[in-house]
Amino acid sequence: MAAAMRVRVVGSSASVPRPGRACSCHLIRARGTNLLLDLGTGALANLRIVMDYPDLDGIIITHMHGDHFLDLIPLRYGLKYGPLLRDDRMPIWLPPGGESQLRALAATFASEGPNDFLDEVFEVNEYDPGATLEIGRLSVTFAKTIHYIDAYAVRVERDGASVCYSSDTAPCERVEELARSASIFLCEAALGLASEAGPIRGHLSAVEAGEMAQRAGARRLVLTHYGTEFAPGELEDAARSVYHGPCAIADDGTELTI
Ligand SMILES: [Zn+2]
Ligand SMILES: [Zn+2]
Repeated sequence: MAAAMRVRVVGSSASVPRPGRACSCHLIRARGTNLLLDLGTGALANLRIVMDYPDLDGIIITHMHGDHFLDLIPLRYGLKYGPLLRDDRMPIWLPPGGESQLRALAATFASEGPNDFLDEVFEVNEYDPGATLEIGRLSVTFAKTIHYIDAYAVRVERDGASVCYSSDTAPCERVEELARSASIFLCEAALGLASEAGPIRGHLSAVEAGEMAQRAGARRLVLTHYGTEFAPGELEDAARSVYHGPCAIADDGTELTI
């Protein structure tokens, strides 16, 4: 039987890209729908290894930190000047308030003619985190995370298959609820084996990611969004010490099927 859903890790780095790796970007594919969750620094180059970028049905940006959205800029050049084009505008969904931030960034570039830098190639939307978003054959729901700015975890579902992506978060019951019984829980582990002192927190250690997955009853845990301070195997071992299901660490190019 064909997989209900496929997930490709396009970029697995935290905010500073690991050598040869990109920042946050995960591609969800299900029955002809191609949805991108985040498009961080360097991720467009990796995306082009697996698909033609005009074939994306949409891009959801979980929050407006550069490691999650900055490659929208080179994608804009690609959609305007090629090498690959599309007839219609590509839908992108930003978090509430994200549109003004992206437009402010785009406004810093020199004018390239009478048309708007973004609107010429993108259909710019903001999602309602309290509503279900339908994109092609996929249903998308959100949960606000605990982070330094407003950020939203995302759950994508189709035919009983589900992927929950934590975005950036400290330990958070809302994200756990969103990840409840998910087929795959893609969870950040930006702190690695370190800890983060309060009161303001915004990331997870590998152990905390494992604890969230365990409490959520996620059926499979994949750690992502990590740096170079610790060996990937160390992170996996740490998560396995508290999470009792199948656990792996993402790398750019990792393919998962449900
Ligand atoms: Zn991040
Ligand atoms: Zn962030």
